[in-house]
Amino acid sequence: MVTCRDCGDVVVMITQCQLRRCDDDSVHSLAYRCPGCGCRDVVGQLHVNEIVELLDAGMSVVPWQRPREVHEARYAGPTVILDDLLDFHLLLEHDDWWRPLLDH
Ligand SMILES: [Zn+2]
Repeated sequence: MVTCRDCGDVVVMITQCQLRRCDDDSVHSLAYRCPGCGCRDVVGQLHVNEIVELLDAGMSVVPWQRPREVHEARYAGPTVILDDLLDFHLLLEHDDWWRPLLDH
Protein backbone atom coordinates (compact mmCIF):
# COMPACT_ATOMS: atom_id res chain seq x y z
CA MET A 1 0.00 0.00 0.00
CA VAL A 2 1.23 3.48 -0.85
CA THR A 3 -0.13 6.93 -0.15
CA CYS A 4 -1.04 9.09 -3.13
CA ARG A 5 -0.94 12.84 -2.54
CA ASP A 6 -4.41 13.21 -4.02
CA CYS A 7 -6.15 9.89 -3.36
CA GLY A 8 -4.71 8.90 0.01
CA ASP A 9 -3.91 5.25 0.71
CA VAL A 10 -4.15 3.12 -2.39
CA VAL A 11 -3.12 -0.44 -3.22
CA VAL A 12 -0.75 -0.78 -6.16
CA MET A 13 0.11 -4.18 -7.59
CA ILE A 14 3.79 -4.93 -7.25
CA THR A 15 3.89 -5.59 -10.99
CA GLN A 16 2.88 -1.95 -11.47
CA CYS A 17 5.81 -0.66 -9.41
CA GLN A 18 9.44 -0.12 -10.26
CA LEU A 19 12.26 -0.47 -7.72
CA ARG A 20 14.84 2.15 -8.63
CA ARG A 21 18.35 2.92 -7.45
CA CYS A 22 19.80 6.36 -8.09
CA ASP A 23 23.36 6.12 -9.44
CA ASP A 24 24.15 9.54 -7.97
CA ASP A 25 23.39 8.88 -4.30
CA SER A 26 22.71 5.11 -4.19
CA VAL A 27 19.25 5.71 -2.70
CA HIS A 28 16.53 3.19 -3.53
CA SER A 29 12.98 4.30 -4.24
CA LEU A 30 9.75 2.74 -5.39
CA ALA A 31 8.07 4.39 -8.39
CA TYR A 32 4.43 3.73 -9.18
CA ARG A 33 1.42 5.10 -10.99
CA CYS A 34 -1.61 5.69 -8.77
CA PRO A 35 -4.53 3.49 -9.88
CA GLY A 36 -6.93 6.19 -8.71
CA CYS A 37 -5.74 9.33 -10.47
CA GLY A 38 -3.03 7.98 -12.78
CA CYS A 39 -0.33 10.29 -11.43
CA ARG A 40 3.20 8.98 -11.06
CA ASP A 41 4.80 9.21 -7.64
CA VAL A 42 7.75 7.82 -5.75
CA VAL A 43 8.20 6.38 -2.31
CA GLY A 44 11.69 7.54 -1.40
CA GLN A 45 14.23 6.56 1.20
CA LEU A 46 13.28 2.88 1.41
CA HIS A 47 14.55 1.02 4.46
CA VAL A 48 16.94 -1.84 3.71
CA ASN A 49 14.34 -4.35 4.96
CA GLU A 50 11.79 -2.98 2.49
CA ILE A 51 14.32 -3.29 -0.34
CA VAL A 52 15.05 -6.91 0.60
CA GLU A 53 11.32 -7.68 0.72
CA LEU A 54 10.81 -6.18 -2.74
CA LEU A 55 13.77 -8.12 -4.14
CA ASP A 56 12.45 -11.33 -2.52
CA ALA A 57 9.12 -10.64 -4.22
CA GLY A 58 10.90 -10.78 -7.57
CA MET A 59 11.50 -7.14 -8.33
CA SER A 60 14.70 -6.13 -10.07
CA VAL A 61 16.52 -2.87 -9.54
CA VAL A 62 16.34 -0.29 -12.29
CA PRO A 63 19.18 2.26 -12.23
CA TRP A 64 18.46 5.92 -12.93
CA GLN A 65 20.43 9.16 -12.92
CA ARG A 66 19.44 12.66 -11.93
CA PRO A 67 19.02 15.04 -14.87
CA ARG A 68 22.27 16.66 -16.00
CA GLU A 69 20.82 20.05 -15.09
CA VAL A 70 21.26 19.18 -11.41
CA HIS A 71 25.04 19.23 -11.89
CA GLU A 72 25.18 22.46 -13.92
CA ALA A 73 26.84 25.54 -12.47
CA ARG A 74 24.39 27.96 -10.89
CA TYR A 75 24.17 31.68 -11.60
CA ALA A 76 26.46 33.41 -9.13
CA GLY A 77 25.87 37.05 -10.05
CA PRO A 78 23.97 39.68 -8.13
CA THR A 79 20.31 39.12 -7.41
CA VAL A 80 17.91 40.39 -10.08
CA ILE A 81 15.65 42.97 -8.47
CA LEU A 82 12.50 44.75 -9.62
CA ASP A 83 14.50 47.78 -10.84
CA ASP A 84 16.44 45.48 -13.17
CA LEU A 85 13.19 44.26 -14.69
CA LEU A 86 11.94 47.81 -15.13
CA ASP A 87 15.21 48.83 -16.80
CA PHE A 88 14.93 45.86 -19.14
CA HIS A 89 11.34 46.74 -19.93
CA LEU A 90 12.43 50.27 -20.89
CA LEU A 91 15.20 48.84 -23.07
CA LEU A 92 12.68 46.75 -24.99
CA GLU A 93 10.85 49.87 -26.11
CA HIS A 94 13.57 50.51 -28.72
CA ASP A 95 14.30 48.41 -31.77
CA ASP A 96 18.01 48.37 -30.97
CA TRP A 97 17.43 47.47 -27.33
CA TRP A 98 20.33 45.06 -27.34
CA ARG A 99 23.02 47.68 -28.21
CA PRO A 100 23.48 49.06 -24.67
CA LEU A 101 24.03 45.53 -23.42
CA LEU A 102 27.06 45.15 -25.67
CA ASP A 103 28.85 47.94 -23.78
CA HIS A 104 28.94 45.94 -20.55
ZN1 LIG B 1 -3.89 9.20 -6.86
